[in-house]
Amino acid sequence: MADDAFAPLTAAGLLMTDWCPARCRHCYVCSGPERSAWMAVEDAAAHLAALARLGVPADGVHVGGGEPFGGFDRLLAIVRSASDAGLDGIGYVETCGFWATSEAVVRNRLRALADAGMRQVSISADPYHQEFVPPDRVRRLYEAARTILGPDGVRVRRWKWLQAPRDTSALSNADLRRLFTDFLRQYPERMTGRAATHLAPLLERVPAGELPEKGCRSPLLESRHVHVLPSGEVYPGTCAGLVLGRATAGTPLDDLVRSWRPADSPRLARLVSGGPSALLAEARRHGFTPDPAGYAGPCHLCWMIRRHLVRTGAAGCDLGPVALYEEPP
Ligand code: SF4
Ligand code: SF4
Repeated sequence: MADDAFAPLTAAGLLMTDWCPARCRHCYVCSGPERSAWMAVEDAAAHLAALARLGVPADGVHVGGGEPFGGFDRLLAIVRSASDAGLDGIGYVETCGFWATSEAVVRNRLRALADAGMRQVSISADPYHQEFVPPDRVRRLYEAARTILGPDGVRVRRWKWLQAPRDTSALSNADLRRLFTDFLRQYPERMTGRAATHLAPLLERVPAGELPEKGCRSPLLESRHVHVLPSGEVYPGTCAGLVLGRATAGTPLDDLVRSWRPADSPRLARLVSGGPSALLAEARRHGFTPDPAGYAGPCHLCWMIRRHLVRTGAAGCDLGPVALYEEPP
């Protein structure tokens, strides 16, 4: 592998929609009920074929969102398309479980997905999700999934919380702040997207000039996974809002990933070598002033700079989509 190339992929996620019934305060892709982008089944099939050509194993491929179960027929068609695309199924599908309103619904959907080639369901449960999703639904989904798919057919992001999930929707702001602060200590989140607005103020902050000036080579070039948006934009790893390019019929995902070099995007190149501090000079030229209250880590600074560049029209094609950065407070 060339020094500045993208490390060979072992994993990828198709973010098939940005729609979600929830608006979790940690959501790094800022999904919500007002969003409406959906990936076409034929586009998903083309991305899956590209992943097969790249040698990404089925276990490493997932479908997420937003909330994929908001378009169940489309989800089913995408999972089914994996075998024709040359993959031996789909590793897992992510969900918050909002749709698990009855045993019958859960059983029917999980069986259909398993028959179509889904290997695991991945359930998200934590204090942020339980502001929007009743705990009995995630428990129902978890129990049914273990029965129908077997213990190896279920993964849970935060397993400990799911053992005794609480409804956090009625908590006072003060109680929510306490709960989130404790939870963040146990399970740190990347302070980008909605987390930058809602969770970063709960954490200790340091001035921009005192943040480590470490480059982001590892998360940007060596994470070995990408996420693909409904319109084909490709994020490196979990750095949502940084765009490597757009996978299309003319430039399929495998060509895009194989040929991409940091030199294609001077801004990403600066992040690779110097981290978000390397974006400060450009940001200042566009009127950015570092917050005297400081930042809850480099990713927080990175997000606030990128958001400023997008909102002042200085973004270019390596930051997007615009809707992600327009998230209201
Ligand atoms: S359920 Fe997932 S996609 Fe939806 S808002 Fe929460 S974190 Fe984001
Ligand atoms: S600082 Fe920016 S580029 Fe680096 S890991 Fe965080 S979000 Fe990604």
